[in-house]
Amino acid sequence: MLPREGIRIQSGYHSPQLDVKVKLNTNESPEGPPENFSDALVEKLKTIHWNRYPDRRAGALCEALAGLHGVERNNVFAANGSNEVLQTILLAYGGHKRTAAIFEPTYLLYNHICNLTSTNVVSFPRKSDFSIDEAVLEDVFAVSPEIIFICSPNNPTGKLEDPKLLIEILRRFKGLVVVDEAYGQFSSFSAVDLLPEYKSLVVIRTYSKTWALAGLRLGYALCDVAISEVLWETALPYHLDSFKQTAGELALSDSEAMSERIGNLIAERERIAKELLEMGFDVVPSQANFILFGSEALDAKLLWKSLVEKDVLVRDVTSFPKIGNRLRVTVGNHKENSFFLQKIKEIIAQQ
Ligand SMILES: *Cc1c(COP(=O)(O)O)cnc(C)c1O
Repeated sequence: MLPREGIRIQSGYHSPQLDVKVKLNTNESPEGPPENFSDALVEKLKTIHWNRYPDRRAGALCEALAGLHGVERNNVFAANGSNEVLQTILLAYGGHKRTAAIFEPTYLLYNHICNLTSTNVVSFPRKSDFSIDEAVLEDVFAVSPEIIFICSPNNPTGKLEDPKLLIEILRRFKGLVVVDEAYGQFSSFSAVDLLPEYKSLVVIRTYSKTWALAGLRLGYALCDVAISEVLWETALPYHLDSFKQTAGELALSDSEAMSERIGNLIAERERIAKELLEMGFDVVPSQANFILFGSEALDAKLLWKSLVEKDVLVRDVTSFPKIGNRLRVTVGNHKENSFFLQKIKEIIAQQ
């Protein structure tokens, strides 16, 4: 029996999980959560009534997230990773005979989750600097999508979308505008500030990157209560377990330590960008915790392989639509980044 069409994931999405010394391929935090997190979590877990179902609306967690972002608790919807948030949005607002617009290159999962939910996807090209072309908006509105996905900073380019363009879309478009800010903490602008003014805006955040909790699988949407209510209804009952609610709330109590880390990662990002530029690479200016880079003189796939042979794993994004001959490197800790830069220098010297 064959599965329904669209179930199979596009090849190239899953990054190979290779056993190397320096792993800079999936944009995770290079460090685990702060030192006292695990001990504090163990203590908290002792108070959970495991025989009972969890709080169906994750009240304490949503309250804490609302406090962090200066919104109300009922403006928050949380799920098992922001990918599940995306899926919930598409189950509720996408589906058969409905359309989502995306701007490629972008996060591959928009396309995949649209396929999973039988949502029609229309892809629009970005400009050569990877920003969204204002002129293309007429074409977007012409296909009357229900949803527009904007990843900002965009994965895999690192490009922050121009806030003016975002506001223009919010003003003119009647459907949902989903702004995926998986890398929002690393950038100079957040669409969260626009939430009070634009009721069709949904901002998505995740614990997987800055909060050093990719293993926890927790993400959330911030949006108008009319939308969050629909999302809570769409998700399966008790989809967020007690463990996750507890850990997610606890993680937020150390936001100062997190801000410090973000500062360090941004400084490291700029160091890597500068060194890659000096080596002659074309470097896309990044507002995220990764860098897209390439060189006409070097075949990206071969460079990827040479790096693996030297114990460094970066992301081969050459199969992503419209990325071309480039690789994506995640910003790691100082030592890892120096190791990566050293190895890439060695490869260039051997050319
Ligand atoms: C990493 C990433 C996510 C995070 O997904 P989770 O399911 O929360 O781990 C979401 N969107 C983009 C663009 C990402 O790069």
